[in-house]
Amino acid sequence: MSLRLGAMLPEVLKHLFKKPATVQYPFEKIGVPKGFRGRPVMDPNLCIGCQLCVKDCPSEALEIHKESESTDEAGKVAKRFSMTFFLDRCSHCAQCAEVCPKKAIHMNTEFEDAAFDRGALKIVYK
Ligand code: SF4
Ligand code: SF4
Repeated sequence: MSLRLGAMLPEVLKHLFKKPATVQYPFEKIGVPKGFRGRPVMDPNLCIGCQLCVKDCPSEALEIHKESESTDEAGKVAKRFSMTFFLDRCSHCAQCAEVCPKKAIHMNTEFEDAAFDRGALKIVYK
């Protein structure tokens, strides 16, 4: 027994002066690694309404809706689209961001997705 204690003592002492390996989450936060896939965020100024993100989403977590359409004096048609995002269905695969031809979607670094009310997980970008 004393032999085992002797072998353990240096290891115990070493860990007495080491910083803790864990953090006091949620009171203390750490950063996420590069390339982390949080929530998809859409920029309506860039969207052309092609629906590719909706077609490619494996979780049916996205809807794109036309919000307005206007024609200027030169006959140029301008359309504006909104995105409704259902966070409770999203698997954070980032396929929507990858397929968007206008780079209108990017993945942020948020990971705290829990909510008491499902309605709080429906996010509209417009
Ligand atoms: S990250 Fe994946 S699951 Fe989530 S909305 Fe985009 S395509 Fe759908
Ligand atoms: S893929 Fe991009 S441009 Fe096309 S509807 Fe989705 S967000 Fe808009």
